Amino acid sequence: MRRVYLDNSATTPTRPEVVEAMLPFFTEHFGNPSSVHSFGRDVSKYITESREQVAKLIGAKDSSEIIFTSGGTEADNLAIIGIALAQKNKGNHIITTQIEHHGVLHTCEYLKKYHGVEVTYLPVNEYGQICLQDLENAITDKTILITIMFANNEIGTIQPVHEIGNIARTKGVLFHTDAVQAIGSIPVNVQEMKIDMLSLSGHKFNGPKGVGALYVRKGVKLVPHMHGGAQERKRRGSTHNTTGIIGLGKAAELAMADLDEKQKKLTVLRDKLIKGIEERVPEIILNGHPTERLPQNVNVCFKYIEGESLLLNLDLQGIGASSGSACTSGSLDPSHVLLAIGLSHEVAHGSLRLTLGIYNTEEEIDYVLEVLPGVVEKLRQMSPLYNATK
Ligand SMILES: *Cc1c(COP(=O)(O)O)cnc(C)c1O
Repeated sequence: MRRVYLDNSATTPTRPEVVEAMLPFFTEHFGNPSSVHSFGRDVSKYITESREQVAKLIGAKDSSEIIFTSGGTEADNLAIIGIALAQKNKGNHIITTQIEHHGVLHTCEYLKKYHGVEVTYLPVNEYGQICLQDLENAITDKTILITIMFANNEIGTIQPVHEIGNIARTKGVLFHTDAVQAIGSIPVNVQEMKIDMLSLSGHKFNGPKGVGALYVRKGVKLVPHMHGGAQERKRRGSTHNTTGIIGLGKAAELAMADLDEKQKKLTVLRDKLIKGIEERVPEIILNGHPTERLPQNVNVCFKYIEGESLLLNLDLQGIGASSGSACTSGSLDPSHVLLAIGLSHEVAHGSLRLTLGIYNTEEEIDYVLEVLPGVVEKLRQMSPLYNATK
């Protein structure tokens, strides 16, 4: 059976060049990069190279501003908790949005519950963007951090990051952005955008899983959360994940070289998919911003049906996608992102997210467009909601 992977915002396949770069670090270059002998020094030099590649990809001034982590979630935790603890004497107020990834949302909830931190969750408009005036209004003299994602993982909406950076810098508040979905898909430059901290993750741009990084601008002090060795300039203890870090560096190098081409290719595929669905399936809603959206993201609500059934039926046809509604402990909770953009529970339940990657082809899009309308129609025929409309 034909298999088409359209869930690249969940994870991507590791590029063969990345795997190849990693392999010698399991065997030949096995040393601990913190060791003083030649076995360690030998590896340490490659770790430095990786750090430089990651720094380059995001336009950081200096590679010492990169802290390697176990992924995007850890980078989010380190940034947010690290600043909350470091700036305890300055204030206890954090500003974020209602549509963040759980790596940010649940971290803020933890700080609220156990550290008395006050959190403002900015609303978003129907396209998923915050209002800059809301942000300005929310800042008080107790505000220590603004954490707003670069681009949303569900609906693909890109925030006005430049403007957010300007506001934060003008008001003297630190700005962290979860850029996990943006890195390797659209240009990101921490200096131009006045970003103080940025989270990224290897497996979202064809690197390995279990490795990521937090950019921390020089001069920004945070309290580490992994206590132990002096790795990462005492900001994150534990022996370096050498294979992962080498893979992350290689993925960063390739992502930078291919950024323009990837952006162009995925935009064409995305627009073909959107147009094709709009032409073939009635009663749908395209979620996210019409133009300020990630090149890899398509998110559509199909009225009268449930995303979960849609996923299962597409899976039977070899198509891997995802939905905004997750079946948790017997109750169907629609995505917090879809609710935040103003969709009703009913409509939000019918969401489908298709996310593209570098290996997708036009032919695969044709296949999806061939299969999807029939699946939707079949499910609608079985839907009491749909039949009630006729
Ligand atoms: C995937 C993702 C994360 C989590 O990254 P991990 O490396 O899987 O921990 C965080 N934020 C966003 C926006 C993501 O898409």
